[in-house]
Amino acid sequence: MKTLFTVRDMQAACRSLRQTGSLGLVPTMGALHDGHLSLVRRAAAENDAVAVSIFVNPTQFAPGEDYDAYPRRLAEDGAKLEAEGVDLLFTPSVEEMYPSGATTFVEVAGLGDRLDGASRPGHFRGVATVVAKLFHIVHPDRAYFGQKDAAQVAVLRAMVRDLLFPLQLVVCPIVREPSGLAMSSRNLNLSAAERDRAGALSGALQTAARLVRDGETGAAALRVAMLSQLSSEDGVRLDYAEVVHPETLLPVADTLQGALLAVAAWVGQTRLIDNLLVEASSAERPQPASLPEPIEEMHV
Ligand code: AMP
Repeated sequence: MKTLFTVRDMQAACRSLRQTGSLGLVPTMGALHDGHLSLVRRAAAENDAVAVSIFVNPTQFAPGEDYDAYPRRLAEDGAKLEAEGVDLLFTPSVEEMYPSGATTFVEVAGLGDRLDGASRPGHFRGVATVVAKLFHIVHPDRAYFGQKDAAQVAVLRAMVRDLLFPLQLVVCPIVREPSGLAMSSRNLNLSAAERDRAGALSGALQTAARLVRDGETGAAALRVAMLSQLSSEDGVRLDYAEVVHPETLLPVADTLQGALLAVAAWVGQTRLIDNLLVEASSAERPQPASLPEPIEEMHV
């Protein structure tokens, strides 16, 4: 595995790999866990070569958020990626990604202000900007993202469509701890007690999933079930619990056409998110011609 620190070196290394085959890109902020590695393995299975980026992107953190506290584990991350047979690791500095005087940003209007975009103003502007830069540097054939960040997936799909990026965006299922807790680099910042409490997020989604399996389709009832579970857990502070369209991220009245159940909450100082996709019920399933591009993920 080659580690590259500058945009120029990464561009040259990617150009040379692309001459001999397809290239998959896995953008990350590091402190890698099995969720990240599932993306890396999928990229390795589907491409001749794999590039991984590790960059804690300052523009997606608002002032007062956890940019400084975000876990950084570069040595361990490098060893994990080496063991996976990754070809290129890109770990640029902030100055490399944001040249002095940089004032150009990518904004996905509407979508970028929903769910996490509503709670974290400017977050998706930072995400879209850094991912667009990575796409320009790497020119991947495929780029891999986790369903864990469902709103991010919706924003980036729109960006790829609108800015005509010639690549395939591949979405990978959420990887969970045995307890059900969605894996996240931020889990490293949880105490043992907080880790237990964090189970309230996946617990709320599991409760909603049970209701769906029992035939509940009303968004209001599912939302109430998630809210009551999240607000009854001591030490967990709700941010949102929503039932939305997976692509527009706008609230839906029912799950008949499929829906994204999304939750966010603070556990201590750490903000966590989780979600669950509910498939369209077969009676109401739209005809294939009107189906969106398939997304692969955990679903009920
Ligand atoms: P991050 O380092 O948090 O920016 O995540 C990098 C990529 O890994 C994003 O596309 C995430 O959605 C994905 N990811 C993070 N956690 C998980 C998980 N538990 N399961 C699947 N993908 C994940």
